[in-house]
Amino acid sequence: MVLLDLSLTDPKIITDADENDGKVVCVRCKTSISDKKYMITVTGDSPFHTFTNPHGFSFNIITFGYCENVMEVSEPVGEYSWFPGYLWSILACRECHEHLGWRFSGDVGEVNQFFGLIREKLIFPLGE
Ligand SMILES: [Zn+2]
Repeated sequence: MVLLDLSLTDPKIITDADENDGKVVCVRCKTSISDKKYMITVTGDSPFHTFTNPHGFSFNIITFGYCENVMEVSEPVGEYSWFPGYLWSILACRECHEHLGWRFSGDVGEVNQFFGLIREKLIFPLGE
């Protein structure tokens, strides 16, 4: 397993949530994972996406430019990438090892790295 250096990669901030109001935490262990202010739009006009993998499982994904307390638990691969041109690797919570989503990386457009996190694996304190 590889611990990531999750440096912020120039996210296009699309929310103006207050510093302390937007915390996004792991649904299982409540560890801080990100913040609403780090949600970014990578493709289309929203950070919210629904994708289906080759096994037929659907995921509600939210894209973030930054997250913390996660670890990469697979090698980056390009097959079946939901974001063309980007490699993906599996992300798990560093505390409880819950599968939270994927890291996407690639030399594509303005964003070289972002995180597609599974909506149901996150808690947004303000609802939404
Ligand atoms: Zn957790």
